[in-house]
Formats: sequence, C-alpha cells, structure tokens
Amino acid sequence: MTAKRHASVLPSLIFIVFLVAPVVIAPLGAQQNADRVIVVTLDGMRWQEVFAGANRGLITGPDGGVADSGFTLQRFWRDDLDQRKQAILPFLWGTVARKGLLLGDSTLGSAVRVTNGHRFSYPGYNELFSGAPDDRIDSNDKIPNPNVTVLEWLAGRPGFAHSVEVFGSWDVFSAIFNVGRSKLPVNAEGLPFPAPTTERQRLMNRMAEWAPTHWKSERLDLATMAGALDALKTRHPRVLAVLLGETDEWAHERRYDLYLDAARRSDRFIQLLWETAQSMPEYRGRTSLIIATDHGRGSARDWSDHGNEVLSAGRIWMAVMGPKVTINGIARGQQGTQSQFAATIAKLVGEDWQSARPGAAAPIRVSGDIRGK
Ligand SMILES: [Zn+2]
Repeated sequence: MTAKRHASVLPSLIFIVFLVAPVVIAPLGAQQNADRVIVVTLDGMRWQEVFAGANRGLITGPDGGVADSGFTLQRFWRDDLDQRKQAILPFLWGTVARKGLLLGDSTLGSAVRVTNGHRFSYPGYNELFSGAPDDRIDSNDKIPNPNVTVLEWLAGRPGFAHSVEVFGSWDVFSAIFNVGRSKLPVNAEGLPFPAPTTERQRLMNRMAEWAPTHWKSERLDLATMAGALDALKTRHPRVLAVLLGETDEWAHERRYDLYLDAARRSDRFIQLLWETAQSMPEYRGRTSLIIATDHGRGSARDWSDHGNEVLSAGRIWMAVMGPKVTINGIARGQQGTQSQFAATIAKLVGEDWQSARPGAAAPIRVSGDIRGK
C-alpha cells in the first residue's frame, strides 16, 4: 500500500495512510535509474563518536592528548546528544540519517561486525571490497591482493569501462586493489594530479605540496579530496571511491582533537561531493552514497588502538542513502557485517556481486517494509 495510490481518494485518508506508512517510498522510476555510486571510507572512525558524538573525558582527560581542551569543548562538546553528534558529523546526521540508513549503533542492537580477525586496515579493506574475510591477508604489507574487489569487477561490467576511479590517502591501496591486474586508476600517494592539464589542477598540486608531510605512508586527506572532487566534475565516473585516512593517523598519535577535526573535515567533504553530484545532470537523482570504515578502535584508554588484541575494534558502522534506499533512520536490531559492503555497492548500481563471487556476503537490506517489522 502506497500513499500515492490513496492520495486522490479522500483528503482524510491521506492522514491515515501517513500514520501507517511513515517510511518514504521512492518512486519506482528513480530506483531503476540508480546507476552511480559514491563510496567513502573513514579509516578507523569509531562508531562511538558517530552515534554518541565527542567523548568529554577524552577531551578533558590525559588519554585524549588534546592540545587545547577549552577550544575542543567549544568545537565539539554539546550537552544535548543530537547536537553533539551534529557538531562532528552534521551532514551524516542532517541528511544521510534522514534520507538513508545508518547501521552500527550497538546500544540499539544494531552492531556491524568485522569478520576478519585482524581488525586492522588491509584485512578490513579487503573484507569491505571483496565481500569476505581472507586469512591470507594478515599484514599491511604491499602485497598485491589475490582477491578481485567489487570495484575491479564492476569496471569490467557493461557500461562501467573506464568509469570506476579510486582516490585514497594510503600508499597501500594500489596493492589492495591490485592495480597490476585490475588496471583500476588508483591515486593514493604523492600529488593528486600526476599529469595536470588545467590551471586548477596545477594549483591543487601546489597546495598539496604546501601542506605538511606527517607520515611515511599516508598523505593528508586534502590531496585525496582534491583529486576525487576534480574527477567527479570532469570525468563523471559511475563509481567513485574516496578512501580517507587522517582519522586513523591522528587517533594513533593519541590526538583526540585532531581525530575529531579530521572526522569533521571528512563530513564536510562528503557533503560537498554529494551536493556537487546532485547539481550535475550526470548524477542527479541516480546516485547513491555509501560510507563505512575499515575497523573500529578500542574504548576508554584504548581508544587510540585497534588490531588483533583489541576486541572492541571489531565493531564498525555503515551509512547508505540513494534512490534504492527506502529504509530511513538509525537501524534498530538490524545486524550487519563488514563483508556486506561489497555486494551493497554493486546492488546500488543494479549489479549482483554475490552471483559473481560465490562466498561473498549478501547486500545490506536497504529497502522493504516499514522499519522494525
Ligand atoms: Zn590504524
């Protein structure tokens, strides 16, 4: 029963129908046209901050390593839970959670679990993008991934040739997506534009060079963001993956203020990417957005850490919105796994990863009857 069918019968019925069917059901046409997806990951972003906002004890106590507690409280602390979440992730809460679905609030019985036992990055990205854990992947070494990722597979599907692009902040992504075999364009180290052709690209390269270099294997996310936004505007890939990394790096350095700041900047970037896409005929009304993380982190003093020995780092979160996503809000009692990410990406663009890769996990349920049923 849809609201549409009854709207013309009697005005009083409209009220009744809305009462029993609070979930907005996207028009069928929009679902059929959905053929593009923006994929974003925030490395090691905890579900705790996503669903509860900043932790006051980590801002003011010794475990957070915060340089200026007063300033960080002013930026990210609010007594009200909703306002506190929005202070870090305003787009996720203001738009994605309303139009789409957020999974992973363990306090509401909606855990999303990492099923590889390692709870660090390469095994996590492999699970996210191949759809299954793999015991052979047990380090972050730059060993070409034996598994085909859903991105590699999609690039070979009709209509997707030269239309899948990957931008990341970590120099291991070329191995994770096995560029030698997949031929996927992966820009994840150095300059965002290795062969600039426009003045804008040359300027963004220069700004990336002016930015500090903090880590051996990880560049600042601004370079990744610049490359991805330019790709969206100029080449309109059907699948654009943007794998951000600063959240994890600042957390390892036990800088809770900069971890929150990185999350805030990531959210602002996702908003820009989404709003830019919606302003373009190539993307408007036919594009989905899916967001996740490669692993969780510990809690309390262990918040900065993750890995084999940090059990709670096996809890993560996911967010998804788009024309096919008709279940809205925070998932309650809906369990998920990291492995479901790959098939969900495929499903959002009308493809079936499970059939192509036996053993891959099913997509997340993003449409269906009224929530909670
Ligand atoms: Zn890490």
